[in-house]
Amino acid sequence: MIQLFLPLGFLGFVFREIKGSMANIEKMFELMAVEAQVIDRADATDLLLTRGAIEFHHVDFAYKPERPILRDVNLRVDPGEKVAVVGPSGSGKSTLVKLLFRFYDPDAGYISIDGQDIASVTQASLRQAIGIVPQDTVLFNDTLLANVRYGNPEASEAQVAEAIRLAHLDDFIASLPQGDQTLVGERGLKLSGGEKQRVSIARTILKRPPIMVFDEATSSLDSHSEQAIVSALREIAEGHTSLVIAHRLSTIVDADRIVVLDRGRICESGTHAELLRANGAYAALWWAQQKQKQPLVSSS
Ligand code: ATP
Repeated sequence: MIQLFLPLGFLGFVFREIKGSMANIEKMFELMAVEAQVIDRADATDLLLTRGAIEFHHVDFAYKPERPILRDVNLRVDPGEKVAVVGPSGSGKSTLVKLLFRFYDPDAGYISIDGQDIASVTQASLRQAIGIVPQDTVLFNDTLLANVRYGNPEASEAQVAEAIRLAHLDDFIASLPQGDQTLVGERGLKLSGGEKQRVSIARTILKRPPIMVFDEATSSLDSHSEQAIVSALREIAEGHTSLVIAHRLSTIVDADRIVVLDRGRICESGTHAELLRANGAYAALWWAQQKQKQPLVSSS
């Protein structure tokens, strides 16, 4: 029996999730305590997913009318492409993800998946199509294995073992005296931010949704965890359309395209090498992060 350390309101959600009607994003939704702002249209139909192309068309958005957050955002993620969104804190990166999951509707413009306006499809089908590795992963008070299996309770043992390996959790599990039977969560072993994200990556690998969103944790990771996450990300992005909200630029240097957001507008777009050559906003962010990474040395 899964024991929860989550608010009571979450129980209903877990029940529905177990029934298979919701995706991981719902947990992030609950964690953020965001009230549902949108309801399905009376004539909403299920999303017909073909190749997994995402497109933002001239999207404007504000949580409060007096403070615009996103302005005229045009962003296309082609099937199988890995696009990273970077930008200063508060520039609107996570807001893009919230709109993609339709927690809010844009004030102007629209978002489509495979050519269908997401406002015209059922939210359940939309969220089923997208897997998310959120910033803060919810772990249940259960074994590590059960927490990974949660991504797809029907997965075979071999599939679970493969997901654990691809998410680079195997060494960590091997280091625990009780291995994958270790109890985790509030009442068990507390995992680090990087370990929790890798559990979430393993869950997402098991779920294998056509579209993946990775919202990188803001907290800093040691370089070992960071490298493990970079490799795990590469594995889950393979062959899937993926959108990565990145705080550490070192995790997304291999993205097919990097989009730079500044005060809600896309100001640059290109590969890591192209953006460094352009010597604009991305290059400034990159060099600032490189500087922070340098070890402190005495001037003797
Ligand atoms: P970070 O890198 O710090 O995570 P971000 O680029 O992801 O930042 P967002 O989380 O999208 O930025 O936030 C953009 C702006 O919207 C911020 O100024 C934030 O304070 C504001 N904001 C976010 N959520 C809400 C909300 N629910 N209500 C009102 N304002 C919000």
